[in-house]
Amino acid sequence: MIDLDVVRADTPACRDQVFLDSAGSSLPPRQVLDEVVGHLRREAEVGGYRAAAEHAEEIEAGYGLAAELLGCRPEEIAFTDSATRSWDLAFAAVPLAEGDRVLVTEVEYAGNAVGLLHRAAAVGATVEPIPSDEHGAVSVAALRDLLDERVRLVSLVHVPTNGGLVNPVREVADAAHEVGALVLLDACQSVGQLRVRMDELGVDVLSVTGRKWLRGPRGTGLLAVRESASGLLRPHLVDLHGAEWVAPQRARLRTDARVFELWEYSVADRLGLLAALRYALDLGVDAIAEAVLDRAERARAGLAALPGVTVRDLGRQRCGIVSFTVDGVPAAKVRDTLRERGVTVTVSRTTSTLLDMTHRGLDAVVRASPHYFVSPQQVDDFVAAVADLR
Ligand SMILES: *Cc1c(COP(=O)(O)O)cnc(C)c1O
Repeated sequence: MIDLDVVRADTPACRDQVFLDSAGSSLPPRQVLDEVVGHLRREAEVGGYRAAAEHAEEIEAGYGLAAELLGCRPEEIAFTDSATRSWDLAFAAVPLAEGDRVLVTEVEYAGNAVGLLHRAAAVGATVEPIPSDEHGAVSVAALRDLLDERVRLVSLVHVPTNGGLVNPVREVADAAHEVGALVLLDACQSVGQLRVRMDELGVDVLSVTGRKWLRGPRGTGLLAVRESASGLLRPHLVDLHGAEWVAPQRARLRTDARVFELWEYSVADRLGLLAALRYALDLGVDAIAEAVLDRAERARAGLAALPGVTVRDLGRQRCGIVSFTVDGVPAAKVRDTLRERGVTVTVSRTTSTLLDMTHRGLDAVVRASPHYFVSPQQVDDFVAAVADLR
């Protein structure tokens, strides 16, 4: 069980407002803020190299922390600056030739899709959506019908940016592996709110951001690549951190996931992300998941009972993202009116998840994403504010 008083005391801003945007950019706990600000101060005192050297052990231990959270080995972890960077680095390393196929889910994220379409067009590969089942989750049966040996990659979004759906992962990974396809899991909206372990899910590659459910600083992300898959990948962007210049005509690449990292990065932000990882691990992933689901289900039940309000979340298994529309009130107007009442929500538009939104005939939904630090009373206040809209 999470001690609500403690986590709220660590997040002072959550008392003055109903903050429901952890799927966008969460409120970091003071432990994260202190690391980042403290390190920037230290850099100003002794220079960035000495300041980093003082944290060498902690930075090295960070790979173990991330591995513990993600159910893989420290050698399978790379730190990046966003989920999209992680996804793109991994995708660019997947060999792709003319006639190859890439399968995506209907809730594919625009940031992934544009990179995918851009490269597929350049090499003559195809990008094909896997139909969803009657509940809106990716259909494993439909996937099996699509799979053949030309499928190189299945891009699977675990939790979409625009709603509370949780896609099945293990079944998709097992089916994809039968034809030798790689599985790249966009875990940007799941890590930090759900239990996401590579050893249980069976995916080859996984991408995460720091600022959302993990409550880390902006400009941070994680890439995890299973050792079993790393031999199939051809990293495109390497520097003197990911490789060594061993002879005038030869560079030797690292064999672990750090081949995907660059030498330069924000040490302050890294330390902040590590503080966020420690914070999540200390609370316990299962306790976090339980508390987040509790808030989200409370919000969904409250909203569903309001006339003229429609909860838009797909799937049978759901998580901490709550999406809804209000009859006759545009999503942006809902967001702006709620903000005046001290409630922070965001709007998710067609352009972020084109296939899914078009399929459902939606142009925008309001997205409320309560983390564990939101009190049940605040969830009720949010529902009451929505009720007042009409
Ligand atoms: C936010 C989001 C991303 C992108 O994360 P960045 O850190 O902004 O690159 C990717 N996938 C999903 C599902 C997202 O919601």
